[in-house]
Amino acid sequence: MKAIQVSAYGGPEVLAYGDVAVPQPKAGEALVRIGAIGVNFIDVYHRTGRYPGNPPFTPGMEAAGVAEAVGPDVTDLKPGDRVAYAMTLGSYGEYAVVPAAKLVPVPDGVSDQQAAALMLQGMTAHYLARSTYPIQPGDTVLVHAGAGGVGLLLTQIAKHAGGRVITTVSTEEKAALSREAGADHVILYTETDFEAEVKRITEGKGVHAVYDGVGKTTFDKSLNCLRPRGCMALFGASSGPVPPLDPLVLSGKGSLFLTRPTLAHYALDRQELLWRASDLFGWLAGGSLKLRIEHTYPLADAARAHRDLEGRATTGKLLLLPG
Ligand code: NDP
Repeated sequence: MKAIQVSAYGGPEVLAYGDVAVPQPKAGEALVRIGAIGVNFIDVYHRTGRYPGNPPFTPGMEAAGVAEAVGPDVTDLKPGDRVAYAMTLGSYGEYAVVPAAKLVPVPDGVSDQQAAALMLQGMTAHYLARSTYPIQPGDTVLVHAGAGGVGLLLTQIAKHAGGRVITTVSTEEKAALSREAGADHVILYTETDFEAEVKRITEGKGVHAVYDGVGKTTFDKSLNCLRPRGCMALFGASSGPVPPLDPLVLSGKGSLFLTRPTLAHYALDRQELLWRASDLFGWLAGGSLKLRIEHTYPLADAARAHRDLEGRATTGKLLLLPG
């Protein structure tokens, strides 16, 4: 089969397209024939070694397709079932082996492309808004990179929960998309001091929570945007990692809560996984959650997708298509 392989950490050029053996499912696993592959920022961390792995490996943490074969002990899935998943390494290929417990059924009417676009970023937005800091009606929250993959979904889910949403983006085009997703206030953080603007919007009170996937360039000012006992959910580092922090800083800035969550710990068992996925598919079917699939690339062009994502040139979801 065709797949992308990373043999040594590095830039997008290390994403090599070539032939590898089709993996075989063992007990509790299924072989998935992949229809669409989600590109996520975590793929960049794997490629560069920021999240260390064991090269050579096939990157990619998200896909949708059809179960081709199942290993022993798999009872609730059969060949031919349509499935989607996130958070199992190896999706940049024509086939992937995935633990059956991580596969969710894809409802009729939802395409492979939609399912692959929804799983990882959608479940992330779901857990951030519903579990990490559960937004209550009337809360004000700040979402960085509001036109990104997670950002557009998180904004919509935060609005459903009754929140007032402030977002940051880098361009006017991204600002328009963020507003379309429901943001009440959009700040161009490349031109305006977002801390001062958040204080102005909240009349000096600050926000209840900051959802920060940007990291290095936003973290310090994000803490200053919080009201006393506010919650800082640092969930990513698209601008680079945040340096170590003295916990006393959290006291000085208002007895703040700081968490560094990851999806793996918010889909701990099958029940939690299916809860989040079925909410997302239900909202999609009902029209209350809109997906923006900005661009599809042939699998062979994975390097171009990474360049675009890292180059800050994208909005919404990027997909790779095998075959
Ligand atoms: P995005 O589509 O949001 O792309 C990243 C965005 O970050 C860019 O479009 C850009 O938006 C912004 N950004 C700001 N500074 C930089 C920079 N120096 N270089 C590149 N981008 C920059 O990506 P995803 O939706 O895939 O992921 C968003 C974040 O969420 C990532 O940090 C990712 O690691 C994290 N994540 C965490 C998960 C978890 O469970 N912890 C799960 C999923 C994602 P703009 O141009 O508007 O500034």
